[in-house]
Amino acid sequence: MPKAVVCREVNKPVSVEDVQLEKPRRGEVMVRLVASGVCHSDLSITDGTLPVALPMVIGHEGAGIVEVVGEDVTRVKQGDPVILSWVPSCGNCRFCLVGSPHLCANAGHATGGRLKDGTTRMRDSSGTDLSMMTATATMSELTVVGEESVVPIDPEMPLNRACLIGCGVMTGVGAVINTAKLEPGSSAIVFGAGGVGLNVIQGCALAGAAQIIAVDVVDQKLEFAKTFGATHTINAKELDPVATAKELTAGLGPDYGFEVIGSPTTIEQAHRAIRRGGTAVVVGMGRLTESAQVNALMLAFDEKILTGSYYGGARPLVDFPKLCSLYQQGKLKIDELVTQAYKIDQINQAFQDMEAGKNARGIIQF
Ligand SMILES: [Zn+2]
Ligand SMILES: [Zn+2]
Repeated sequence: MPKAVVCREVNKPVSVEDVQLEKPRRGEVMVRLVASGVCHSDLSITDGTLPVALPMVIGHEGAGIVEVVGEDVTRVKQGDPVILSWVPSCGNCRFCLVGSPHLCANAGHATGGRLKDGTTRMRDSSGTDLSMMTATATMSELTVVGEESVVPIDPEMPLNRACLIGCGVMTGVGAVINTAKLEPGSSAIVFGAGGVGLNVIQGCALAGAAQIIAVDVVDQKLEFAKTFGATHTINAKELDPVATAKELTAGLGPDYGFEVIGSPTTIEQAHRAIRRGGTAVVVGMGRLTESAQVNALMLAFDEKILTGSYYGGARPLVDFPKLCSLYQQGKLKIDELVTQAYKIDQINQAFQDMEAGKNARGIIQF
């Protein structure tokens, strides 16, 4: 029986349990996880920010080796190294066909913690069904997922680095390259320098931004931001980020603003900070009960674009191998992101460290 991280009740420590795992059914594969990143969305399940059906095996940022393939699986074979994708795109709906598989119309089951047929392959020791976060449940030694959830990668790519491509790297770098399509030489302000924020920052650097202004309230995170390419940092506890960003850009405001927190205040700040005609991209996932405000006159007058970015506009089969390749060429920093590796039993410590801002990214290494 594989060990897995189970969230049973919100605002309680998660438990590490031996779970029962069913064999793959038709179109499904069993993956032996090598590493799983500890992402803020995992924490958001445990504190109730993301409401889901509990009990749930959490984790959605993983990489491993295909151990068993079910009937009719064509995407991978036994022994293939894979990154798990948390949007199991169908390949046939309108969104998939126009090149936006991250918005797939048939992936709703994953948000509900179920595989495509509406069931789960995981049970606890007493036989109770366990939901599987985003139909991946990567904080488990083994998982069973639909073949749509796995992306085969170069066997040379280290899996304890590849795992972060499954969420944080894709979401951050993709927001810049796929969603904003940032132009070389431009300026950007990034609100939030956590795991995803650092990837937005390195995405801006990768795309050739001349000026990258990182905003956070934790000095340690602003230090990480510099490592990933920030040219200026603002501690929002000390300075007004909007006014400071304008000063740094000859009074105009940056060309791009990225919000990577999901808070109404910083969404409004990102939108206010950018220049006329600039683009503000909201990457952070806020609460369903909250709204951000835009001025009804200035929206048309300033002609600013305000958009969201979900999963960095991921086209997993295209983007994951591309990001692996950028890492292998030394152009994408993932080693620098992994500041701590934990054993699965240390998951509650990993969450505490995340809340304290200690890590760029922590991972569970199996
Ligand atoms: Zn994530
Ligand atoms: Zn689809």
